Formats: sequence, C-alpha cells, structure tokens
Amino acid sequence: MSDTPTTDFIRSIITEDLDNGKHDKIITRFPPEPNGYLHIGHAKSICLNYGISQDFNGQFHLRFDDTNPSKEETEYVESIKKDVEWLGAEWGENLFFASDYFDKIYACAVKLIKDGKAYVCDLTPEEIREFRGTLTTPGKESPYRNRSVEENLELFEKMKNGEFKEGEKVLRAKIDMTHTNIHMRDPIMYRIMHTEHHRTGEDWNIYPMYDFAHPLEDAIESITHSICTLEFEIHRPLYDWFIENLQDELPSQPRQIEFARLNLGYTVMSKRKLLELVQNNYVSGWDDPRMPTISGMRRRGISAEAIRKFCSTIGVTKFNSMTDPALLEFCIREDLNVKAQRRLAVLDPVKVIVTNYPEGQVEEFGAINNPEDPEGGRRMVKFSRELYIERADFMEDAPRKFFRLTEGKEVRFKYAYLLTCTKAIKDENGEITEIHCTYDPESRGGSASDGRKVKGTIHWVSAEHCKEAEIRLYDRLFSVENPDEGVEDYKENLNPDSLKVIKAYIEEALAEEEVGTTVQFERNGYFCVDSDSTKDKVVYNRTVAMRSSWDKIAKNLKK
Ligand code: ATP
Ligand code: MG
Repeated sequence: MSDTPTTDFIRSIITEDLDNGKHDKIITRFPPEPNGYLHIGHAKSICLNYGISQDFNGQFHLRFDDTNPSKEETEYVESIKKDVEWLGAEWGENLFFASDYFDKIYACAVKLIKDGKAYVCDLTPEEIREFRGTLTTPGKESPYRNRSVEENLELFEKMKNGEFKEGEKVLRAKIDMTHTNIHMRDPIMYRIMHTEHHRTGEDWNIYPMYDFAHPLEDAIESITHSICTLEFEIHRPLYDWFIENLQDELPSQPRQIEFARLNLGYTVMSKRKLLELVQNNYVSGWDDPRMPTISGMRRRGISAEAIRKFCSTIGVTKFNSMTDPALLEFCIREDLNVKAQRRLAVLDPVKVIVTNYPEGQVEEFGAINNPEDPEGGRRMVKFSRELYIERADFMEDAPRKFFRLTEGKEVRFKYAYLLTCTKAIKDENGEITEIHCTYDPESRGGSASDGRKVKGTIHWVSAEHCKEAEIRLYDRLFSVENPDEGVEDYKENLNPDSLKVIKAYIEEALAEEEVGTTVQFERNGYFCVDSDSTKDKVVYNRTVAMRSSWDKIAKNLKK
C-alpha cells in the first residue's frame, strides 16, 4: 500500500529499535472506537500504521476499541471494516476487539488493587473534579484513598456484579494527587455503566476507561509501537505507569509515539460533529459526498490511491497544522487524469443550429477515450444539425483573445468540424436562445483542408442523441477554513451553497456507466456516477473541478 517509499521520525525510531535488537518483529495497530464512520484523518493513521507494518515486514492489527457501550454500534464496526479494507490495509487474521480482553483487563485491575495501587472511590463526579486540582494547584487526596486491599477487592467485585448505581463508585489508580501532570492524579480506571454492550451484552456492569484499557490492549497484542495523535502526549506517563506496574501480567511493553493529526480546512473531523450533521439532516448521511468521511469520498468518486497519495504527501510530523483541501484535490486530479475516460457533457446548455448541415443527417466521429492512456481507444460520438454547447462558450462583442464562439469567428467542435458563428438569436429578455453556425464540410475531424489555423476548441453534444442527467455540484461543506473559530456553534459556518443540483446534457455513452465509475467531462472536471443513479434517472457527482492554481504550485513543490 505504501505507494512511494517514505521516511519520517517514527520510521527512524523503529529502524533504531530493530538495529538495537529491541524488537525483531514490528507490530502496529489501527484502534478505532466504533462510534462513527471513518474520516480522512483516520485514513492518515491507517496509512501510517499499515504502511509501517509493510515497510518493516511486520504485522498490522485492526482493533476495535469498544470500551464505551453507550455510543457504539455494530453498524459502525461493519462500515469501519469496509473502509479500512477499501483503503488497502489488510489485517488478515488480526482483527481484534478490546471487549475480548475485558476479563484480562479486570484481572489487571484486581492485581493493582492487591498491590495497593488502586482503590474504590465514592466521591461524586463533581467532587472528583474538585479534588483533582488545576494546572497550577495540587489536588487533594480522596478520603477513600486508604481503604484496605480487602475492602477494595470486595467493593470492586460488587461494582462488577451490578450492586451499585451508575456514578456511585469508581475504581481509581493510586498514583499522586500532587503530580504536575493532572492525568497522574489518581485517574479513573473503571466506571459503572448498566448499559448493554454490542458484543458482551449484559455481562458487564463496569467498563474500563480509555487511559487504562488502551495500554493493556496494546500490550496484550504485543504491539511494539503504539502510534497516536499529539493530544495523547500528555497521557503518555500514565500509559507507561500502567504498563510498568502490570509488567508481570502483560506479554509486552509497547511504546507510545505521538504524531500530528490531520486537520483539513473547510471541514470538521470530530465524530461527534459529523454525527450531528447526519442526525440533523444537514447532509444526506455519513456517505454524503460532501463529508470528509471515507465513505463520502468513495461515493464522490475519489479513489483509495488518491487518498493514499494525499496521506503520503502530507507526511508525518510533530507539529499541528491545517492542510489546504486544494492539496487533496490536486492528488485526486493527478490520479483521475491517468485513469478517467474522457466524455462530452454540457452542463449549462445553449442550442446551436448548424444551418448548412443537412436535416436528418447524422455522422459519427471517433473520440479519444483517454489521451493519457495509449490503450484507451476510441468511442463514436454522433454529430447532427442541432447541438448543445456551454453557454459560456459563446460571447457577444467578445474581446480579441476570446477563442471560443462569437459572431464571425471560427471554432473547432472537438472531434467533428470547424464551425463559424453567423448569429445569435435572443428572446424578449435579451437571453440567447439559439446560436446559428455554418460548418465547413472540408474540415471533417476538426482540421481545415487548406491548413488554416483555428485556435479555439469547444465540446458539444448532439441534441437529438444526448441524454439528460442530474449533476450534483459540490462545494466546501463550510465556508471558512476553521469552522470552530470565532462562533459559538460551528454549524453557523456551514456553506449554504455546498450542493447545487443542475440538469445537464451528456453524450449517450455516459448514460450507460455503472455506479461508481469516474469520468472526465472534457473541460468541466471529473464526475462519478452516484449511487442514486438509475436507468431512468442518471445522476453524476462532481468529484473535483478542473485544475486549480494549486496544481501548479504543488507540481513545483514536488520538484
Ligand atoms: P473522537 O472524534 O471521538 O475523539 P477519534 O477521531 O479520535 O474520535 P478514534 O476511533 O479513537 O476516533 O480514532 C482511531 C485512531 O485514529 C486513533 O488512533 C486516532 O489517533 C486516529 N485519528 C483520529 N483522528 C485523526 C486525525 N485527524 N488525524 C490522524 N489520526 C487520527
Ligand atoms: Mg479517540
């Protein structure tokens, strides 16, 4: 899956660990919580973890971190598996669920109690927060901190058996209430939750907290390098504390390494917010093509290769930053430019009458499917007396440098003939309704027999032979780069024009394409057959518009 060999600070650490003989096999994991669909940020983590396992001939685990049953669902598990697989990361036999380790995690908690390193605490959540202190003031010890081992064991067992109400008790690690790192001030290990779990049903009345469960999950699977995002840097001492104090119970001692998460401009990436957009119908679903989700991007026509290319281009660092979505668009275009077949489609049609072309005559011309692909071949497109072109390809009183249609000027209708505009017909509002042209019968295929040069080339479809299609034009979901900035509610920054639906005329072949096929509408961009498309109603998504100025910049950057 690593399309181009890369190196970064994490791979350097791993190389050193291998050289020093610390490990002989590298094991990485992607540990999603099944509480939403995956997004492009997750893709960065998948590419990194899976890419490393491949580069070092190691092993990659897909592990569901399903320790919080209140928000987790099987639907999410299935969608995550589908997306990870689609991205090209293969876990083989190594599919795991944190819930499979619940017994082991419980045993580890009991061990810490027996060692005098954990206790049951009866403080209320508010009191716990209060006792914790602040960044600048030390915390206060809980009055329940010095319970005997026996009492703790008994109470913890009762918590497990469902003998207490939610919030009544928690299990806490006994570390140091005056520690400079707030996460070390007797953090909660287990909480009571009388919630059914999607895999363990009603077996458990207590569930482990992320900070306690995660290092154990990693160690149980002998993960060598536990890669996570920078927010967890401050949790690392706690990660290490659990690993160290439970080393006799655990088969390995993983090392946590943090990297900067992907932040993409003009979108949001928190699962809570994405869920809110879905539940309140701001978008049509998790796979709405405007969403930064993997499923949305797939539906929009973006390939796994393009996403992987993007992830390797942004690289892996320790500095948080905002990535310009134009870079993603550049990777999409680069990918589709090579793969997508070219087709003719007119998005904003105006009629052209070729006045000297015989009525009822139809000719076929061979159109190149993909100039980037020598084996792409040709298909036939029909030409007749009535055509459609883009409204923007005609201009009255055009400036000299306008190389498209204007009265008296000759233009190439791609693959067909040279046509000269004779006049434009307008309705009572001054709107152009028809453009009249004459064609040069000696210019079959689009070049003049006398060698005269014609600069402009435009696309067209035959009015009689084209099909109608619904085209969904997408713009950014949010109108500002950072939707969370400067507003109380990020939804205030939703772009009201993120979806525009138009009716277009497309060449016949386009009506036959399968759902998911991506093509280039010449001069208009890349489009993909949407899953709403049927035989009676053809629907295309615009995957990405044609080149932007970023393409040039990005090309130079790569040199
Ligand atoms: P939430 O929004 O609920 O905090 P999350 O996005 O962190 O959730 P997880 O399911 O915990 O969701 O993420 C799985 C893995 O993906 C984690 O290892 C996390 O570090 C990584 N990850 C999540 N978001 C990004 C991102 N934007 N860039 C890179 N990695 C990410
Ligand atoms: Mg998370």
